[in-house]
Amino acid sequence: ADMALFKARAASGAELIYFDEGLKSEQRYRFNLEQSIIQGLDEKQFVAAYQPIFSVKEGRIVGFEALARWQHPERGLLGPGEFIPLMEERGLISRLTDQIISCVVPKLADWQVLHPDLFMSLNLSAWDIQKPLFIDNLALLIHKYQVQPGKIVLEITESLLLADWLKAFQVLEALRALGAELALDDFGTGYSSLSYLQRINADKLKIDRSFIEHWSQTGDARLLRTMVQLGQSMKMTVIAEGVERKEELAFLQELGCDQYQGFLSARPMLSEQIEAGGWHSMNAIPDHTDELL
Ligand code: C2E
Ligand code: MG
Ligand code: MG
Ligand code: MG
Repeated sequence: ADMALFKARAASGAELIYFDEGLKSEQRYRFNLEQSIIQGLDEKQFVAAYQPIFSVKEGRIVGFEALARWQHPERGLLGPGEFIPLMEERGLISRLTDQIISCVVPKLADWQVLHPDLFMSLNLSAWDIQKPLFIDNLALLIHKYQVQPGKIVLEITESLLLADWLKAFQVLEALRALGAELALDDFGTGYSSLSYLQRINADKLKIDRSFIEHWSQTGDARLLRTMVQLGQSMKMTVIAEGVERKEELAFLQELGCDQYQGFLSARPMLSEQIEAGGWHSMNAIPDHTDELL
């Protein structure tokens, strides 16, 4: 019996120590990450990767979505999963938004010279909607680079509107006053009611990738078809996200979906990669999936 007690104590002791150490190293990890994020922001290590968005009917590029990447001095190019959650939590995301806007507007101005109809989409966070520090910067850059404001698309998610609807509504109005377009991102995955659709009056509807995936896996297209019809009946441009297979694209054609983006046709790329000639080969349905990010 003594032996058993001894074992139990040892075990719980070990567990406590283990737990403590785990907690500490988790804290240390987050602290270090936050410090290097701050340094990264100071040193402008955050850049945009651009994923082409295609017309379903014609297969040509109609715009790009800017997606944040971190050019980490030691770890290489990192995706948003590595830094956005902590940035949101620590209130650093508005600095990221500003840096992305500063990449995106001049780039759009460059590319519009050859492709005047091109649009550029970027993602906003809940923080941006509640504390819209970015609006002045956006207005300034639109003016400075003389881009058509209507070619700037701001992507928002349903969940981002839930926090403080009145505040969010004011911000959306301010963006409209600038002339920018609004897209509802990841549509179908949030919890908001359909009445939001009416009140926001977005220009674009981006159907979340999970619905394409669901059709691919089960052949069940009920929600996918309904969402395309819903968006179009509300005069929105409907965009399908995450198209990975030829069959998916063929089905979107059949559904009459307007635009798509996905690894089938192009991954997010740094602007140099796009300018280095990826552009023209992207106008067909290609297989240059080796330019990965
Ligand atoms: P999102 O806005 O829905 O962006 C689309 C994500 O889907 C991107 O991931 C893109 O690389 C990925 N994707 C595109 N096509 C395919 C496909 O065919 N298959 C699969 N499996 N994935 C595909 P990424 O770049 O990792 O971004 C993830 C999320 O991070 C974005 O989702 C967006 O919510 C957020 N994010 C990215 N950049 C920013 C930013 O600058 N600001 C803010 N606030 N959020 C950002
Ligand atoms: Mg997006
Ligand atoms: Mg999306
Ligand atoms: Mg998504």
